[in-house]
Amino acid sequence: MQVVQVAIPVPMYQVFDYRIESEDVGDIIACRVLVPFGPRKVVGIVMGHAEHAIVEEKKLKSVIEVLDSTPVCSASMRELGEWMSRYYHYPIGEVLHTLLPAALRKQASGKTKASVQTETMLYLSDEAKNIDDVDPRLSRSQKQRALFHFILASAEQKAPLSKVKDEFSASVVKAMIEKDLLIKREEELQVGDWKQSIQIADKPLANVDQSIAISSVNVSNGFDTFLIEGVTGSGKTEVYLQIIEPLLLEGKQILILVPEIGLTPQTVQRFEDRFGIPVGMLHSNLNDTERLTVWQQARDGNIGIVIGTRSSIFTELKNPGMIIVDEEHDESFKQQDNLKYHARDIAVYRAKQLNIPLVLGSATPSLESLHNAIEKKYKHLVLPNRAGSASMPSQRLMNIKGQQMQFGIAQGMLDKMREQLQAGNQVMVFVNRRGYAPALLCHQCGHVESCQRCDNPMTVHKSVNNLQCHRCADTRYLPKRCPECGSDDVDTFGVGTEQMQAGLEEIFAEYDTVRIDSDTVRGKGKLNRLLQDINQKKYQVLVGTQILSKGHHFPDVTLVLIVDVDSALFSADFRAPEKLAQLITQLSGRAGRSGKAGEMWLQTHCPEHPLLQDLINNGYSDFARYALLERKHAGLPPYEHQICIRSESHKKGLAMDFLKICADTFTQFQHAKVLGPFPAFIEKRQGRFRFVLIVQSPSRNYLQKITEQANFGLQTLAISRQVRWSIDVSPIDF
Ligand code: ADP
Ligand code: ZN
Ligand code: ZN
Repeated sequence: MQVVQVAIPVPMYQVFDYRIESEDVGDIIACRVLVPFGPRKVVGIVMGHAEHAIVEEKKLKSVIEVLDSTPVCSASMRELGEWMSRYYHYPIGEVLHTLLPAALRKQASGKTKASVQTETMLYLSDEAKNIDDVDPRLSRSQKQRALFHFILASAEQKAPLSKVKDEFSASVVKAMIEKDLLIKREEELQVGDWKQSIQIADKPLANVDQSIAISSVNVSNGFDTFLIEGVTGSGKTEVYLQIIEPLLLEGKQILILVPEIGLTPQTVQRFEDRFGIPVGMLHSNLNDTERLTVWQQARDGNIGIVIGTRSSIFTELKNPGMIIVDEEHDESFKQQDNLKYHARDIAVYRAKQLNIPLVLGSATPSLESLHNAIEKKYKHLVLPNRAGSASMPSQRLMNIKGQQMQFGIAQGMLDKMREQLQAGNQVMVFVNRRGYAPALLCHQCGHVESCQRCDNPMTVHKSVNNLQCHRCADTRYLPKRCPECGSDDVDTFGVGTEQMQAGLEEIFAEYDTVRIDSDTVRGKGKLNRLLQDINQKKYQVLVGTQILSKGHHFPDVTLVLIVDVDSALFSADFRAPEKLAQLITQLSGRAGRSGKAGEMWLQTHCPEHPLLQDLINNGYSDFARYALLERKHAGLPPYEHQICIRSESHKKGLAMDFLKICADTFTQFQHAKVLGPFPAFIEKRQGRFRFVLIVQSPSRNYLQKITEQANFGLQTLAISRQVRWSIDVSPIDF
């Protein structure tokens, strides 16, 4: 009998001992096993073996079944898991669970093969090799003859069934197998196939700044981190394409992370078109099997390029060459629930582990990355101008104090929009709220319809005739009378995307309007169809939320209007200025991307605000350096490091009490500052009151150690099981 240590996805920080009747325990390290855990059977991962079990031998339970014949994760992935468990203060079993593709986590799919990828091939039988077209077995069917010649002409006289299926029906294949002319065989996918088929398409000549960036990255040897700070449309993607070219030719694999909404077929297409090889795509619209396939292909070296969102940072690569994080400032790289990891931080760890370069790129780099670049931890590459014939859009403020407005747009702005539309261009209007209006207000008694579980005004959605809470997704019918006083004098307050679209359809009746927000792009492929329609100029007026800001290339948009972001100027969140500056810059970057001149207009009641003045006159790069200086003086990240403890409970006092104990625990440590507890930015959600506590220190290591120590103590408290709480390392919101 032997004892193995198994990591199990439960909220406990240890591994668990099980007995196994096996000769060689070394062989099942990193394999999945099915084990009893309390009344359940769970899938765990073997982390090692123990000389002696901690529990009495009699009580030791046995492994029910070993699920894999080869490890499901590499030694480096296990090491990453162990590091993440310490760094994020998260149980090892759950961390490993997060790292694996969903298909391998589920008990039901315990039998899912994690091992080698195979492919069904069709061969000509020996029989078939000796016949010709006039043979009676072929002469009667033109389709079968065609398939015969298709395979005869293929390399090694075999072809993958998947490829054959594109051109021949299943019945043709079946008929030929029955006549013993074709043989079907499972074959291991051939490694390096893609390497042979690379064909590099025509590419633009890199400009001076691009060339410097490309050669700086290409001369690097082993691990190094680069930050490409390139204005919108400066040709960052072109730089990525050119830096990965020599690596691909050597057979090395590239992993590219992009923001959730930035992963469009157009992005993937650009890489496929350049190199003529398939690109593996990993995003949230895939089902578990599709994900597993890409994961296996990458792990077995059968695919050269993988493009994916946040969690694809956990893709195993057989022959890693480079990691790229595009739009590295994007918030979707941070997972906000469960294991609160930041894919950019993991990328740094991964690249170091694999000893390969990491390239971060953005027009609006995060202050964290910019700080690292300025401190020379990252190599800083700057693309200050737009590529090709495009020039930067002009950025202007429109003072709307006391102005006549229509659907939230100033009259002067409407004139400018009409001008562009008449010239055959497209205009884009950004509204920061989806729905028809952010609130329903009674003009008689002032009552605002709110979500009781979240204490939050409900958004009016006229298209579906209801009220929706954007925090908990609760819905309610749209009342005709005030539920409080019964008056029918109820009206909407403020303007959301729905109302803006309706308004602009009325004002610009001769043009077509499209709305891009999470309501209209829901569903597979919907966003892409809309983006395509926009590029084919089916629409002239584009209305939308944040989604519009994400890296899309709209060649005919010449005017971008930002309707109202004033509230962000007065936010209590110290990251609000950075987020706002990124949003404004990215939105304005959608204008004038081809030869046509572009302009961005920002409507505001505060044109004299220093943030706006700096951003408009000096650009993001200047703003960001100034913002860093402010952070330094205020002792805020990235100069100091933070963790945030969140606590939620149906009982307000309980959530608060827990954090008070946390605060006392942390106050004992000399080199840490304790801030709070205070109410979370969203004070209530789904009936739970929410509070946060911030702990801050100039030393990341110190903070890590004291948090580990504190967490150990907190886990043992009874109250820690009465509230819902979590630790967020380097939080990006509160
Ligand atoms: P970014 O990723 O910075 O937004 P892209 O790589 O998408 O920039 O480039 C913006 C546009 O400029 C694209 O249409 C691209 O084909 C073009 N482009 C990029 N580099 C060059 C170059 N060196 N010469 C001409 N056009 C270029
Ligand atoms: Zn009322
Ligand atoms: Zn709610």
